[in-house]
Amino acid sequence: CGIVGYVGKRPALSIVLDGLRRLEYRGYDSAGVAVIDRDEVLTEKRAGKLANLEKALADRVDDGIAVGSTAIGHTRWATHGGPTDRNAHPHASGDGRIAVIHNGIIENFSRLRAEIEATGVEFTSDTDTECAAHLLAAEMRALRESGSPEGPQTLAEGMRRAVSRLEGAFTLLAVDVQTPDAVVAARRNSPLVVGRGAGENFLASDVSAFIEHTREAIELGQDQVVLITPGGIEITDFAGAPAAGKEFHIDWDA
Ligand code: GLU
Repeated sequence: CGIVGYVGKRPALSIVLDGLRRLEYRGYDSAGVAVIDRDEVLTEKRAGKLANLEKALADRVDDGIAVGSTAIGHTRWATHGGPTDRNAHPHASGDGRIAVIHNGIIENFSRLRAEIEATGVEFTSDTDTECAAHLLAAEMRALRESGSPEGPQTLAEGMRRAVSRLEGAFTLLAVDVQTPDAVVAARRNSPLVVGRGAGENFLASDVSAFIEHTREAIELGQDQVVLITPGGIEITDFAGAPAAGKEFHIDWDA
């Protein structure tokens, strides 16, 4: 339902939580975050209001979740799988290296799930979303095995390959512990905007999530992938050809 991503130099958790609070007006049944801190993806997610998530996070002040400077956050409006802690986003790949959040509905998820389960992967939720995390992890593994170097470009390529398998509506954001200073996203039939900062960049389903940080925004077009790093915003189509979103200045009051 609501989506926020951040990469920069500041502690990302509080920025992402503020963003989710600004998207609360849309309604939701669960909320969650994933923060990259050094060699770990730290995830917390809870059914219910943001206050439940914040309470769970308050118990984790010492584990690094409050200091990492790359994060994604989600408020969920359940379509597949009840509104439980375990179905809340982010969803992780089995190896724990990738975390994914998603707005929308992946129409072909049951076929994908059967295909992924046949490779020995165990699902930990009832959502349509989780198959995107496993698909991305499998594509990253295949890219690595074929000699692609770890890094933001490979992550973007993994996302392009993963989303080419999906049907339906999605705004997808992913982080990868092997690529700590990047968030990759893709969209089809569901909104995604980038906020351009100085030494930091934002992603959201709606500009209100980052309006207190920047007024420079880019609306992604249909079937585009965007890679944000602290100093860069790179947009391509699903085939990897360079693409451009619609740049605009947000001039309304926050
Ligand atoms: N279809 C996904 C789910 O049920 C995402 C729902 C949403 O857009 O929040 O988990």
